[in-house]
Amino acid sequence: MQDKPVALVTGANQGIGLQIARDLADHGFIVLVGSRNLERGEAAAWEIGRDSRALQLDVTDQASIAAAAARIRDDFGRLDLLIQNAAISNTNKQPGQSVADYAKTTRPSNVSLDEMRAVWDTNVFGVLAVYQAMLPLLRAARQARIVNVSSGVGSLTAAADPAYPWRAIFGPVYPASKTALNALTLAMALELEAEGIKVNAVSPGFTKTNLNNYAGTETLEEGAREAVRVALLGPDGPTGTFTRWEGETIPW
Ligand code: NAP
Repeated sequence: MQDKPVALVTGANQGIGLQIARDLADHGFIVLVGSRNLERGEAAAWEIGRDSRALQLDVTDQASIAAAAARIRDDFGRLDLLIQNAAISNTNKQPGQSVADYAKTTRPSNVSLDEMRAVWDTNVFGVLAVYQAMLPLLRAARQARIVNVSSGVGSLTAAADPAYPWRAIFGPVYPASKTALNALTLAMALELEAEGIKVNAVSPGFTKTNLNNYAGTETLEEGAREAVRVALLGPDGPTGTFTRWEGETIPW
């Protein structure tokens, strides 16, 4: 059996996921670079080098998830770390449309149910499907960890505060998908608490990536660091938390 710890990062062909994969390779992990497009995953793994390899994984495709789990089982027999990073912010925002204007078209009164379903399919149901498929492999590891990459805009406490600057964009599509992801994180943490498998959610902060048309203010290195910090916590580390750099608690 392979001695080096094995990590899977979903949506690791670009953005924060790619940087998390790079950082985990620096920390001595074998990194499985999850990518729905295998060629883009291979390009990312080539760029990362070391013990990284591409793994075709579309989190909305049950066959793809099952094949990825079977491949990990055959190659390693276990999974030490699962970073659930893949997400989308929308499917139908118009080019040049601001986040604020998109939010106006996706309020509870006028949101397209198809748009909400598409985003939740990736950000919520995709995470749960990957969790279910990978759990036997995580249980086969000595001290497995799961990190769910959430967002501060999913915080209900923050959105309920009139002073919160992002309050106007809280709505059913992306922000509420992250609220639901937070709920899943807690449910997973509770389910696995007795087994010592830690499940935590993190927020990268507003990071310059494709997700926000590169409008973010944080670098990829800054966006990745809390996920990596939480992934590396030892056996005494917490479970069921929601944090941003560096370990600052975000209210649910
Ligand atoms: P990004 O650059 O757009 O990367 C998102 C990744 O997810 C891409 O690799 C994308 O693949 C992948 N993906 C999307 N749908 C997928 C699917 N069905 N199956 C597998 N992979 C899929 O965005 P990012 O900013 O790095 O986002 C990473 C995480 O950080 C997300 O969970 C996001 O919600 C969170 N986050 C980001 C910010 C920010 O400011 N950027 C803030 C808070 C939270 P393709 O390349 O094929 O599209």
